[in-house]
Amino acid sequence: MTATINLNEQLKHHFGFDSFKGDQEAIIRNLLEGNDTFVLMPTGGGKSLCYQLPSLIMEGTAIVVSPLIALMKNQVDVVNGLSEESGVAHYLNSSLNRAAINQVYKDVHEGRTKLLYVAPESLNKEDNLEFFRSFKISFYAIDEAHCISEWGHDFRPEYRNIRPTINKIGAAPVIALTATATDKVRMDIKKSLGITDAKEFKSSFNRANLYYEVRQKTNDIDKQIIKFIKQHPGKSGIIYCISRKKVEELAAVLKANDIKAAAYHAGLDSATRSQTQDDFLMERIDVIVATIAFGMGIDKPDVRFVIHYDIPKSLEGYYQETGRAGRDGGEGICIAFYAYKDLQKLEKFMEGKPVAEQDIGKQLLQETAAYAETSMCRRKVLLHYFGEEYTKENCGNCDNCLHPKVQRDGQEALLIVLKA
Ligand code: ADP
Ligand code: MG
Repeated sequence: MTATINLNEQLKHHFGFDSFKGDQEAIIRNLLEGNDTFVLMPTGGGKSLCYQLPSLIMEGTAIVVSPLIALMKNQVDVVNGLSEESGVAHYLNSSLNRAAINQVYKDVHEGRTKLLYVAPESLNKEDNLEFFRSFKISFYAIDEAHCISEWGHDFRPEYRNIRPTINKIGAAPVIALTATATDKVRMDIKKSLGITDAKEFKSSFNRANLYYEVRQKTNDIDKQIIKFIKQHPGKSGIIYCISRKKVEELAAVLKANDIKAAAYHAGLDSATRSQTQDDFLMERIDVIVATIAFGMGIDKPDVRFVIHYDIPKSLEGYYQETGRAGRDGGEGICIAFYAYKDLQKLEKFMEGKPVAEQDIGKQLLQETAAYAETSMCRRKVLLHYFGEEYTKENCGNCDNCLHPKVQRDGQEALLIVLKA
């Protein structure tokens, strides 16, 4: 039946795009046929369209589980901007007041709403069950599905309850989407969502346009960053720091150096945060200094650099965060500052957590350290982490390929000679 739908026409009509990217069409057909679907696609690959387009075609309302309020708002604005009718997309989360919630109920019940974004907490809430049972659900889309797994970089316990809640509401096909493709996370997602038979669509995770570099973190790090930004005037960039305090400090330093920068972290009130986000999207500011609370799902295609002031807690996190650069296929410079003592600090933070959690955390940190310390192609190491073999000898777009280091063995031999 779905073979007769001209999806290209639908794509053009709703989104104005001429062709599908990667596996999008096959994914959409699989979902339209009523099958559970699992999508592993890197950031910027075009995952949203894989549920947005079918939701517009199918009867009923699609429920999209999404972890962040900022992300939901961003997507709902995009979808509503595509249509002349109002209420095609809505979100339901703790930020809405009573009147806004009633408007959502009304639009859903009157069949206007094709996409309903919900926070996992809102989906799982007992009080909402009656509402979710009161309309036809076309399918469930679980975006950022790695949040289900403790092996992912952004574990959210509420994600674990999605399947039990779906069972209470009523079955419909499930599509899970993530940019995290390690085996452990994959298995976790399938098991937790009860979609072990889902057809899997995995695209390559190589982001050829991203340049990867690791620098030793030294005392002049602020100066290095300022210099870098001044060499890229007017370009949009994100700088990630581990702590809110450092975010505030660095943003102040940049501003004092005439850089249009702003701080972003979860400790700021939501009005300030959404203002900062808008300022960044509208290019009133160039550089966001942020904790990892910033960026998930933010659709700014021309972010030109992502700098990690502190080494990230996992390689997956690193891949995701750097993935926000160069989404338009243009240049994306990714620099991480690494100091072994930062790693030790992170390990220390974990003390007091349950042992199993500590073990996971330490293993993830070790993998990050290996990436930072390697003299091999960074792309090869990153892709290997995602179970993908990068066969080219030289990627031509990472520090190690562009400026090969002296072989470690050689260095050690040299040290021995010097000591002798
Ligand atoms: P992801 O969720 O996988 O990180 P998004 O869904 O946010 O990626 O899409 C990334 C960008 O690609 C968006 O700007 C989106 O509009 C664009 N895009 C998606 N599908 C297509 C397509 N078929 N043709 C052109 N652009 C597309
Ligand atoms: Mg996405």
